[in-house]
Amino acid sequence: MMHDLVVTGGPVATMDESLPQADWVAITHGVVTAVGVGEPPAAREVLNVDGGLILPGFNDAHCHTMWFGLSLAEVDCKSQGTLDAVYEALVERAREVGPGAWVLATGYNQEAFDGHYPDIQILDRLLPENPLFLRHTSGHACIVNTAALKIAGLSGDTAPDIPGGVIVRDAHGTPTGVLEERAQSVIQELLLPKSQSEMVAALDRATAVYATEGITSFTETGIAGGWIGHSPLEFSAYQTAREAGVLRARAQLMPVSDVLHPISGHTEDPHRRGLDTGIRTGLGDDFLSLGGIKIFLDGSMLAWTGAMSEPFAAGPADNYGYFQAEISNLRETMLEACASGWSIGAHAIGDRAVALALDTFDEAISRHGAPSIPHRIEHGGVVTDEQARRAAQLGVAIVTQPGFMPELGVQMSDAMGPERTPLIHRHQGLLNAGVMVAGSSDRPVATGRPLSIIQSMVERLAADGSVVGPQERVSIQDALWSYTLGSAQTTGMAHRKGQLRPGFLGDVVVLSGDPLRCPTDEIAGLDVVHTIVGGHFTLKDGEVQALPHR
Ligand SMILES: [Zn+2]
Repeated sequence: MMHDLVVTGGPVATMDESLPQADWVAITHGVVTAVGVGEPPAAREVLNVDGGLILPGFNDAHCHTMWFGLSLAEVDCKSQGTLDAVYEALVERAREVGPGAWVLATGYNQEAFDGHYPDIQILDRLLPENPLFLRHTSGHACIVNTAALKIAGLSGDTAPDIPGGVIVRDAHGTPTGVLEERAQSVIQELLLPKSQSEMVAALDRATAVYATEGITSFTETGIAGGWIGHSPLEFSAYQTAREAGVLRARAQLMPVSDVLHPISGHTEDPHRRGLDTGIRTGLGDDFLSLGGIKIFLDGSMLAWTGAMSEPFAAGPADNYGYFQAEISNLRETMLEACASGWSIGAHAIGDRAVALALDTFDEAISRHGAPSIPHRIEHGGVVTDEQARRAAQLGVAIVTQPGFMPELGVQMSDAMGPERTPLIHRHQGLLNAGVMVAGSSDRPVATGRPLSIIQSMVERLAADGSVVGPQERVSIQDALWSYTLGSAQTTGMAHRKGQLRPGFLGDVVVLSGDPLRCPTDEIAGLDVVHTIVGGHFTLKDGEVQALPHR
């Protein structure tokens, strides 16, 4: 047999237990056709990788690709060293866009600026004619100026609060410009929806970065509505990008629960809440498909808005965080979506939110059986041993982000206090309990580069040099497993990806060296040399490529 492509010249870590190490992998018509040791077979194209490690492509099971792609065109606060530099960058952008136009910025984290938020009076003086929307890096809060508050009808001390959100005010009741959780939606609605062309361009930018990092699959956790969506037509933008060859990785998309509405069919059908025509989880193909429904149960650890059973150790006293809606509503939404054939991805930071998710999944499974792809807990900021055991029993994946540690570890430890710090974004403890654990980033909340995250999974090193939950560190092998086969299991695709073995998708990443053989602190420093999706290069010798039109 003449294969289309053979990749050889370096060790192949297949993630296939029946042949863990090989010398070459052959791909034909986008699918792995053979894997072996010794002399590689004949092929139309032979890629000799000169000693780098050959792996199944990386799969980021929780990220916000559209948000990331859009943010690549916004003012980036993460790259600013001081608050003054942030102000300067905002003024510069205001000059570029002209009076009256929005200034869009992203990646703000007060911890990078000694705990300070931008001062609304300074913002108003610097940007008198431009409304500002500056996203907090968590996505769970934003910073605006008075021009933006005025347009939104939120200026002055009489503006009404928003259910599920907070307009932060000073001692006089005047808004400080910080809007938490759902309070952001009033501003965001002014900026949405994004056009198809803006969204396609964003996907092009975002997945060009993915190609350089070896990402061949991802799950976008929240499209089409809520504060995380960018247009009711977001799925269509993905289709267009795919057709144009600028969606350079396989995408599984999770609509947010806000877009579901009551539906019904024959009286025998259990369908209660879904999308028109009855489309549901699993629709699509190997390249673009519908995942579960994303529902926000609580808020963020950094913004102290996750629903905890014990108060936060930092911030206001006796703060247990909060749910994003009445518990009964959240429960009903999840159960009705499950009745209609949807899997659920429940955003749960606090252990109280994790408990609500597990209770509801338990009930949904006993009513409707196991879902077509696993129900998932997104983040699981704090998960107890008992909750981990229960998740394993129920077949629920916990999509944690150990990759947060370098950027956010200190802040998260402060928020949780020493007793709960070992429970933050666990990894080894979840694997021990038998829970499905994926590799994921929550990008753009934190870095999305798999090799950096894999190093963080192994080290769990915070910026102050502390190790966040030392017992939760995993081996390099398990970190690589999580980012490939673990993600495939979590996203219901373990029969098609996550391993290099015959019949599996021809998704390959080639690294400049072998993470299993280099010092741990050098993993992030390795390069991605080639990325292959379905037998086609998205990165060849470090150069980003488009995929064929289809
Ligand atoms: Zn997220």
